[in-house]
Amino acid sequence: MPDTTRILAIDQGTTSTRAVMFDATGQPLAVSQKPLQQIYPADGWVEHNPEEIWTAVVDVCRTVIAKTGGPENIAAIGITNQRETTVVWDKRTGKPVMNAIVWQDRRGAARCADLKQKGHEQTIQDKTGLLLDSYFSATKIEWVLNTIDGARAAAKGGHLAFGTIDTFLLWRLTGGQAHATDATNASRTMLCNIHTGSWDTDLLALFSIPKSMLPDIRDTAGSFGQTDPGILGAEIPICGIVGDQQGALVGQACFAPGMIKSTYGTGCFVLAHTGAKALKSRNRMLTTIAYQIGGRITYALEGSIFNAGTVIQWLRDNMKMIEHAEDSEALAASLDSPEGKDENAGQVVLVPAFTGLGAPHWDPHARGAILGLTRDTGVAEVVRAGLESVCFQTADLLNALRQDGIPAPFALRVDGGMAANAWLLQFLADICDVPVERPSYGETTVLGAAFLAGLGRGVYSSLDEVKTAWHLGSRATPTMKPARRTALLENWRKGVERVKTQP
Ligand code: ADP
Repeated sequence: MPDTTRILAIDQGTTSTRAVMFDATGQPLAVSQKPLQQIYPADGWVEHNPEEIWTAVVDVCRTVIAKTGGPENIAAIGITNQRETTVVWDKRTGKPVMNAIVWQDRRGAARCADLKQKGHEQTIQDKTGLLLDSYFSATKIEWVLNTIDGARAAAKGGHLAFGTIDTFLLWRLTGGQAHATDATNASRTMLCNIHTGSWDTDLLALFSIPKSMLPDIRDTAGSFGQTDPGILGAEIPICGIVGDQQGALVGQACFAPGMIKSTYGTGCFVLAHTGAKALKSRNRMLTTIAYQIGGRITYALEGSIFNAGTVIQWLRDNMKMIEHAEDSEALAASLDSPEGKDENAGQVVLVPAFTGLGAPHWDPHARGAILGLTRDTGVAEVVRAGLESVCFQTADLLNALRQDGIPAPFALRVDGGMAANAWLLQFLADICDVPVERPSYGETTVLGAAFLAGLGRGVYSSLDEVKTAWHLGSRATPTMKPARRTALLENWRKGVERVKTQP
């Protein structure tokens, strides 16, 4: 074990860049954060400036290092990042050939439709566990090579490097010494065979991407290189890299098959640990790498709900029904009497299909609705229906996971901005019939990166030891009667049926 046990974790997210210094018990000692500019060059296109990301990473790291007594005290660095976002740079100069193309960017959609039409979807799904979609990196890299002047020739000459954000940061932090990624990030590129954990030659050929552009795929916890001392003031080993959702899975200490975490931010991401088995979903969920440690790949099934926090934002900004997101909690609770739950709860159903319905319904053309209105319906009932909709959608996802062979978990571990809402967590426990656990430290993504870096450096000897650094904050246990749960779920599903455009 190193003589110091402090870990510096970098969280490069879609809207901000953060650094957190942790001690070995998982306690945060200092935090620094910077917002990140979103660039929208055309409809459906989203970019980030990689130089802005790099400057922000250096700034936030230097700030937390200064706050905690200098770089000599740091055992290791961990990195977690927005997944799939693509950077291509010239190895000779270290300069990106264009802005980063962000995961949300849809410029590859037509290419994906074309590949689907040509019958490539099944092979891609079998190899990568992903659905053929422009979210993932492959069509973004292809676009860069096909569009940027001279890029294809430079790539053929072995001069260009591709990386997701972790890889770009690693390259810069090590002064161009390391061109590597971890298995979780690799699994989101649509170029990695998740069964072997290596780049797939057929897929590289399909997208005309030279292998020389691709980083080395390494364990999620292990050795990635040392920082150039000119950057943070010392040579610090980088020992953990993980995609953000997998980071949250690790930060929630979900290390056993069947454990599930659910992150409630703008959208909601559910990841279920499936152990050494790459389960194939019958409900169009993604099969992905949860982590790779000691050369062994562990898998997860991933489902997402497009609209979670956005429901609350919509009630606040468009409907003006609440002033602040947290007002939703008191408003929903105001309908219950001291004697118990409001008997009329669940009559109003809000289906937040603002951008279609995701897993397990998959109807991109569906649009939202509020059903079950009566003359007595007021703001509180509608806001409560908004919170309930997030829980109903989670129940649908858990149900789909059950159909895919994952039994009901002993607990659902939650995090993200909405997890601050105690009313929501109680209804979630009630409607999913599962205890809902919120950790004492809610920033699980960045904590996961710290855990992995600690493991990679030997601060922790095993995942079992990491588990002891996860602490329960609060727990909501189900109290709802089964008959009521069934009735409410039936009413919700009727609502969903009403907005669907296809059976
Ligand atoms: P992201 O990381 O996607 O930006 P966060 O995890 O920061 O999101 O969560 C922010 C979201 O959570 C917002 O959509 C906000 O409306 C919602 N939110 C925050 N606090 C509450 C609350 N107390 N009750 C309900 N929703 C909340």
